[in-house]
Amino acid sequence: MKRYLLLAFLALFIVCSVELAASTCYGTTSNGALRNGCKLPGSGPNFSPYTSLGSALGRTWVHCDVAQVVSDAYAALSESHPDWRFVYAESGKAKGGEFEPHKTHQNGLSVDFMVPVLDTSGTSVPLPTSILNKFGYSIEFDSSGHVGDLRIDFEAIAAHLAAVREAANANDVGIWRVIFDPELQPRLQSTTSWRKIKDLQFSERRSWVRHDEHYHIDFDIRCRSLADLPE
Ligand SMILES: [Zn+2]
Repeated sequence: MKRYLLLAFLALFIVCSVELAASTCYGTTSNGALRNGCKLPGSGPNFSPYTSLGSALGRTWVHCDVAQVVSDAYAALSESHPDWRFVYAESGKAKGGEFEPHKTHQNGLSVDFMVPVLDTSGTSVPLPTSILNKFGYSIEFDSSGHVGDLRIDFEAIAAHLAAVREAANANDVGIWRVIFDPELQPRLQSTTSWRKIKDLQFSERRSWVRHDEHYHIDFDIRCRSLADLPE
């Protein structure tokens, strides 16, 4: 009998610890914090980080539900379009808060994704990121989405947004908005996946950085007030 009691207490303890370890976001994307977050998945058959340094430097943390959405979306795309290559970029710090040079990314709900690109043969290749181009962030595409021998794969962006949306729905996570260069956005409208994403809220004005080499998603999860942030 004592043994059963011990097991019951143990089970209760585990349940409570899991409960305590649940990801919690505080405040807003521009003034917030994160506790018990997760790192974005390192890499997979169809995706890689903008730099392995980013993960090492602790710049790829998110709310764990967001990490799950990102991971599920890549898994779905590896089934539907195994040849496409995706690169994700920065999300936030382990405990959220200020995240220079970004103005948001403070509560684990913002993720940057580098644009998927095609080479001259039409093959999907990871966007080349290195310290020379600020890990991709300083690449400048022209108004038709070309840079050097590479062009933006708008089909892949739209399909990725559709996959993220589907994964978000399945994980009970909302999508607040998508920030992407308004000059390039019309090119998404002629893609086959546009109908699945056309009612997402896209940025209408050019923001403080152009967002041509990456698109930014703010997810929507109910967060606690910053005043509730534990010490
Ligand atoms: Zn961003």
